[in-house]
Amino acid sequence: MTTNTATPADDFAGQYIPTLVDRWDELIDWELREQGEQGFFVEILAEAGARRVLDAASGTGYHSVMLARHGFDVTAADGSAEMIDRTRANAARHGQRFPVVRTDWRELRDHVDGRYDAIVCLGSSFPHLFQESDRRAVLAEFHEALNPGGVLVVDHRNFDSIRRHRYQSSGNYYYCGTGASVSVAHIDDRLCRFRYEFPDRSTHHLEVYPILSAELSGLLRESGFDSVEEFGDFRRDFDRDEVDFVIHVARKA
Ligand code: SAH
Repeated sequence: MTTNTATPADDFAGQYIPTLVDRWDELIDWELREQGEQGFFVEILAEAGARRVLDAASGTGYHSVMLARHGFDVTAADGSAEMIDRTRANAARHGQRFPVVRTDWRELRDHVDGRYDAIVCLGSSFPHLFQESDRRAVLAEFHEALNPGGVLVVDHRNFDSIRRHRYQSSGNYYYCGTGASVSVAHIDDRLCRFRYEFPDRSTHHLEVYPILSAELSGLLRESGFDSVEEFGDFRRDFDRDEVDFVIHVARKA
């Protein structure tokens, strides 16, 4: 379905309805996703000397569980009650114990105690913020919750390419499940609507703000982060037209 109505769904939690959340792990495939990452996040956090890590968009808990298994002291947070339930269930299933907190990023300081060595916000979650004022406010919350020398890792799909109508997905990163197909149903400079189709032909849509790479790097610097590095599909040298995802690694002085 292609539609030209561009009315962004600002209500991120309302987009993660049970029928989509139930299929999230099928969509991402934990094992293939971990293979695709090749230890990238563990390496970045270890290099930064991080111990306490906040997974700010835990979703079904994939990164929280993976990082806890690698010995990090993890707190999982997410604004969706549905997702938080899945994080708890998956942590229990994998024998990991860590605090799981439901909070909107905009109210982070009211819900976490803010002494983290690292914050990860992954799986193209940050683009759920449609307003620039919210993006700035959330980066300020993340900056505040980090210890000096702390690191923020935040990623997004390659909207630079998508906005030029060049959506492609290698299927090797992030969304690694083979059953579902993802396509772009609508794109302009304010709204990207993804369409997910599952093997039983059921469909879901997710609406996000198609943030540009330079836009996020700029906001990170303006939010007080010191060095901001960009990676494409986990590589330092990457072709901006080719990668599926861009990952920003920002350090607090
Ligand atoms: N990181 C997970 C989930 C990605 S889906 C993964 O990679 O698999 C995006 C997640 O961001 C959802 O769980 C959604 O609830 C969360 N999210 C979006 N906007 C948010 C906000 N303002 N505050 C808290 N969580 C938010």
